[in-house]
Amino acid sequence: MHHLKEERTFVMVKPDGVRKGLVGEIIKRFEQRDLKIVALEMFHATREEIDNHYPKADAWLQRLGTKTEDTYKRYGLDLVADFGSADHLAIGKEVRTWLLEYMTSAPMVRMVVQGIHAVDMVRKITGATLPYLADMGTIRGDYSADSPAVANAEKRAVYNLIHASETPEEAAHEISYWFGKKTVFSYKRFGVDE
Ligand code: ADP
Repeated sequence: MHHLKEERTFVMVKPDGVRKGLVGEIIKRFEQRDLKIVALEMFHATREEIDNHYPKADAWLQRLGTKTEDTYKRYGLDLVADFGSADHLAIGKEVRTWLLEYMTSAPMVRMVVQGIHAVDMVRKITGATLPYLADMGTIRGDYSADSPAVANAEKRAVYNLIHASETPEEAAHEISYWFGKKTVFSYKRFGVDE
């Protein structure tokens, strides 16, 4: 049973989170929910590092395109005016290049967070991808208000403060990608681990 209490996930405070002075607030929200920070570092990502971080598969790019079209339809906005095409794959590729700009625009903070269902807990505390839809009480819902309709008209990615792994498999991959041989620490939290 013990390993269930020690699930790990990967989190990055994105450039807007750092520039808004939210590093402490974000860490606080994980820690107050009995999650444990077991690795932590500020760094400035290179374009290549971000390029290798986000999936390159067509399915992932299509999904970005589909989600974008859904938002545009809902608000009666003109997809072709912003993207020059309604093709989901082409839209996904364009959004991905905006992500490279966004994620290299300022330093970020990377961390490994550990605890009970850490992957799902962190996603829940973080809130929905699109800040204008994120619930109040989540980090994105309390500190951001961006939408793809606004971001895409400005030819940029959605600013949403945090990256957090979606599944334990993705977490394992991202921890090894971003921390490599660096130490992930081990300690017992008072009142939680003992
Ligand atoms: P999450 O980061 O919540 O896992 P995704 O994996 O779907 O979300 O998307 C990756 C990142 O791409 C998002 O966090 C956001 O910064 C950006 N993004 C997602 N959809 C759009 C969009 N339609 N337009 C611009 N940026 C987007």
